[in-house]
Amino acid sequence: MTAKRLDGKAAAAAMRGEIAARAAERARRGQRPAGLAAVLVGDNPASQGYVRSKHKACQDTGLASTVHTLPADATQAQLLDLIARLNADPAVHGILVQLPLPKQIDDGAVIRAVSPAKDVDCFHPENVGLLAAGYPRFCPCTPHGVLQLLGRNGIATAGKEVVVVGRSNIVGKPLALMLMQKPTADNPAGGDATVTVAHTRTRDLADVCRRADILVAAAGVPGVVTAEMVKPGAAVVDVGTNRVNDRWVGDVHPDVAAVAGWLSPVPGGVGPMTITMLLFNTLAAAELIDG
Ligand code: NAP
Repeated sequence: MTAKRLDGKAAAAAMRGEIAARAAERARRGQRPAGLAAVLVGDNPASQGYVRSKHKACQDTGLASTVHTLPADATQAQLLDLIARLNADPAVHGILVQLPLPKQIDDGAVIRAVSPAKDVDCFHPENVGLLAAGYPRFCPCTPHGVLQLLGRNGIATAGKEVVVVGRSNIVGKPLALMLMQKPTADNPAGGDATVTVAHTRTRDLADVCRRADILVAAAGVPGVVTAEMVKPGAAVVDVGTNRVNDRWVGDVHPDVAAVAGWLSPVPGGVGPMTITMLLFNTLAAAELIDG
């Protein structure tokens, strides 16, 4: 079997068209554009690249985007002051603080400083709590991107055995929450799946992974998911983004393509979906704030 491609570029292009249409409708109604403010501290090249991609994606879909840079030796007080100004700015509907932050800054304090109404990454504890309780204000970008990638390729999650490798606050944990939830009118993104979350203390990872109808790899370890860990025909989503010998590689070994029914590529799988869900959340924030 050669796995069918879970094409994130195609799914993202379709969603960006929908977002651009909603942004144009706002403009026709005379409303200000949905605005994203990205905050970049320091000169990490990967972070600079991510912020550039997000800025361009906003411009391409009719969203307003500003980028605010602080030097690598900026203090926490300077960053909190900038966030307070963005919280108060009516032209800003979404605030994204690019992680990782320099060592002198406490990530948790920064995450808690962003107004929950503008927290389009869905990292603030209030928004994490709403997600866990089943009535999310926003869905976090990478997990929501994974669900959209599956859904737009006709892969239902309801009733399926899903294994998520990784339990981070950014990917694995919120993805498990979304997958397990019952869909409701308030929470149509609920996945209705039977979910197992694996991590470094999981006994016999291969055995656990082989149970999966849908296997999501979010470990940050190149090639950690190998062909013998995959049930024949399973859908495999590779969230991993690892730099190896100047190339981006995922967490899924290329041999998995011979066993899986579906496989997302790296790059071109989950990455474009993550940025698209940020645009989606920025527009949603603008609609919540401005009406
Ligand atoms: P993270 O915070 O480092 O978390 C990694 C998780 O994987 C941890 O829970 C860890 O377990 C688990 N893990 C690591 N090695 C493992 C192994 N050998 N077996 C089983 N579990 C293992 O990483 P993250 O932020 O979630 O990101 C994961 C990957 O996704 C990275 O490559 C990252 O670059 C990528 N990513 C991509 C996107 C995108 O848009 N494409 C977005 C976000 C992240 P413990 O908890 O036990 O340590």
